Amino acid sequence: MASQTSSIVQSSLDALLEDESFLPGLTGQTRKQAFTSLGAILSTPNHIHKSFLRIPLENGKVVRIPAFRIQHNDTLGPYKGGIRFHESVNEEEVANLAALMTLKNALHEVPFGGGKGGVAINPRDYTVKDLHLICQKYVHYFSDILGPDKDIPAPDVGTGDREMDWMMAEYKSIRPGTTYRGSFTGKSVVNGGSLGRREATGKGVYFTFRYMLHDFLNEKRKWLSGTENKFAQTAFSYADRPLDIAVQGFGNVGSVAALEAYRCTHLKNKVVAVSDRNVTLYNSEGLDIPALAEFTSSNDGDLPTTEEELSKLKVKAEIMDRDEVLYLDVDVLMLAALEDQIHQENMKQIKARIIVEGANAPVTGEADEFLSDKGVIIVPDILANAGGVIVSYFEWLQGRETQFYSEDEVFKLLFDKMTATMDTILPQFFGDPFPLRQNCYIHAVMKLSTISYRHGKLY
Ligand code: NAD
Repeated sequence: MASQTSSIVQSSLDALLEDESFLPGLTGQTRKQAFTSLGAILSTPNHIHKSFLRIPLENGKVVRIPAFRIQHNDTLGPYKGGIRFHESVNEEEVANLAALMTLKNALHEVPFGGGKGGVAINPRDYTVKDLHLICQKYVHYFSDILGPDKDIPAPDVGTGDREMDWMMAEYKSIRPGTTYRGSFTGKSVVNGGSLGRREATGKGVYFTFRYMLHDFLNEKRKWLSGTENKFAQTAFSYADRPLDIAVQGFGNVGSVAALEAYRCTHLKNKVVAVSDRNVTLYNSEGLDIPALAEFTSSNDGDLPTTEEELSKLKVKAEIMDRDEVLYLDVDVLMLAALEDQIHQENMKQIKARIIVEGANAPVTGEADEFLSDKGVIIVPDILANAGGVIVSYFEWLQGRETQFYSEDEVFKLLFDKMTATMDTILPQFFGDPFPLRQNCYIHAVMKLSTISYRHGKLY
C-alpha cells in the first residue's frame, strides 16, 4: 500500500480507537488488540497473484509479460477492481489500487471487497490479435481465483468493453456450465453490460463536484454560514459564480467529465482546458468539448495536436505542452489521467483551489498535505470516481437477474447512491478541520471495522 493510503488508514484507526462510542463492546487491552489487528489487515493484501503470460505474438516473437491480480480485502463481498494495461504496471502500484478499491466500496456501501489487476504492456505496441491472446491468457492463468462470487474484474486504463468481452468469453469456455455473466463488468451492452457503465465514472466525477459546490452548499447555506472552517470558506467563495474548469486526461473518465461540465449550461461554468498524453488545449472562452470528444473517438483516443487538425475541426484553442494543464489559472482542476500527477516538485505551481480526483491517487501525500493546509479542497478518488464501480455493481446485479435497467434508471440509481454518501460525509467535512480525504477514510474504515468485528475477526 502506498504510504499516503496507509498513513491515512492508520490515522483513521487511531481516531476510532480513541472514540469509545465506536464499537463500545471493545474495551481496554482487547480494544487495543482489535485495532492493531485491523491495522495489520488493512495495510496488507490478502493475496498477491503474479504470473508471466507467455504470448506468441503475431510478428513471430514469443514474449513473457508480467501480469498481476491482487486481492486486498473481501470483508464486504467478492473482490472487485479493474485490470490495467499500461507499461508502468508493477506490484506496488496494483496493491495500492486494490486497497483503494476496498476503501471506495466501503465508503459507498457497495457490497464488494477490493482487488486490482494489471498487465505490464503498452497496448498500442500490440496488434488486436496479440491483445486478444493476452486477455485470454490472463483469464487462463488466473481462472481459479476469478468468478462472479470470488473476484470480478472491470476495465481500467488501457482496457475497455472489448477486453472485458474477450475475458468473459474465455472464462465461460474454461468453466462451462457455471454462471458467467457476473464474472466481468464493463462489458459491451450487447454482451450483458449495463447501459451507462462507460459514462458512469466521468458522470460521477462531475456530479460529485456539482453536488458539493451547488446543491449541498445552497441547501445548507444558512447552517454553514457561521463556520470558520477553511474548506467551507473556499467552497463559499466559489459557490455563486461561473467557474473555469481544466481537465487532465481525456479518456473514458476525463472526456465524459468534461462533456458533463460543458452540458451543465445552467451553471455557466466553462471548460477552458483539456489535456491528454500528448498535449494541453486551452481557450479562455471555453472549448468545444463535443467536437473534441468526436475527434478522439476516431483518432485512437488522442486529442488534436496541430493547428491544421484544430482548424479542420473548427475548434479554437491554444496548443500547449502536456503538463501545462496543471498550472493554469483556473478554479477547478479535474485529474483524470494517472497517479502522482501533483507531487512535491510541482505542488507550489498549482493555482486551482478545487481539485477533483477522477484518476486514482493523482495527488501524492506531500502535495495533498501542502494544498490542504492552504484550504484547497481535494475531492478524493474514493469519493469522486466511484461511479464506475457503483454501476459495475448494478451490472453484476442485472447479470444475476438477467433483467436489464434503462439508462435513465441506471443514472438515477448512481446519483442516488453518490448523494447518500455525500450527505453522510459533507456535514462532517464542513464542520471539522480535517480534509475531505480523511473524512472519507474514517467513514470507510468504520464500515470495515464494524463488519470485521461482527464477523468475529478482530482478535
Ligand atoms: P483511459 O485510458 O481511457 O484515459 C487516460 C487518459 O489520460 C488518456 O486521455 C491519456 O492520453 C491521458 N494520459 C495518459 N498519460 C497522461 C499524462 N502523463 N498526462 C496527461 N494525460 C495523460 O483511462 P480512464 O479509464 O479514463 O482512467 C483514467 C483514470 O481514472 C485512471 O487513474 C483510472 O484508474 C481511473 N479510474 C477509471 C475508472 C473507469 O471506469 N474507467 C474508474 C475509476 C477510476
